[in-house]
Amino acid sequence: MSTPLNHRRILLKLSGEALMGSEDYGIDPKVIGRLAKEILEVIDAGVQVGVVIGGGNIFRGAGLAASGMDRVTGDHMGMLATVMNALAMQDAIEKLGGEARTMSAIKINEVCEDFIRRRAIRHLEKGRVALFAAGIGNPFFTTDSAAALRAVEIGADLLLKATKVDGVYSADPKRVPDATRYEHLSYNQVIERRLEVMDTAAIALCRENKLPLRIYDMTQPGNLMKIMRGEAVGTLVDA
Ligand code: UDP
Repeated sequence: MSTPLNHRRILLKLSGEALMGSEDYGIDPKVIGRLAKEILEVIDAGVQVGVVIGGGNIFRGAGLAASGMDRVTGDHMGMLATVMNALAMQDAIEKLGGEARTMSAIKINEVCEDFIRRRAIRHLEKGRVALFAAGIGNPFFTTDSAAALRAVEIGADLLLKATKVDGVYSADPKRVPDATRYEHLSYNQVIERRLEVMDTAAIALCRENKLPLRIYDMTQPGNLMKIMRGEAVGTLVDA
């Protein structure tokens, strides 16, 4: 008999950079294909999966503003970048025989659906991957905040942040060799120690809604399924 799963509905946050793989910009088809496969594996095992994808592999509003662009215009470009990434993930999932729906926080109906909470939940119940694009639809926010918000809205029992490191460290492990990895942190510890986990707005939303957050290394194939089985991969943030 297979191991029972610890989670029923999750929200997975993938940064835009996660999709780049070894490229300097854009999307590495191998990486997005592997992530799509891992998502479909957990869906086949009975978990409902919503995904928020960032856009940092293409545009970030703050970066564009630093080079002279109006910040709001830059953020609009950043949001559109997340839509492109979501469409690429939708395609990768469909190529593997799965079903996915991109739902945007800004209306682009020729391209994808709008985010409508009840419809999103229906997609999840039908085993479709719901890809939440365009962040929360407003400038001056990040897709981390969007991930926490969508997770709470869809009633996810876990928010997962996929990164390239195996959890949260006391300092940057690339620069500080004796940096220690945390297995567990409270929401308040993350905020007070200013640990670069997710932005403060996202952590505060998780704290208010008692939504556990796990930060894990998505470069290691199989980690997503291990977490679904209850293995302590990466760092858990909760009360
Ligand atoms: N963005 C925004 N509002 C949101 C979410 C995102 O304006 O609710 C813009 C913002 O410019 C951001 C960009 O979209 O920099 C890409 O998102 P993010 O930087 O969160 O992507 P990631 O770092 O996860 O790749």
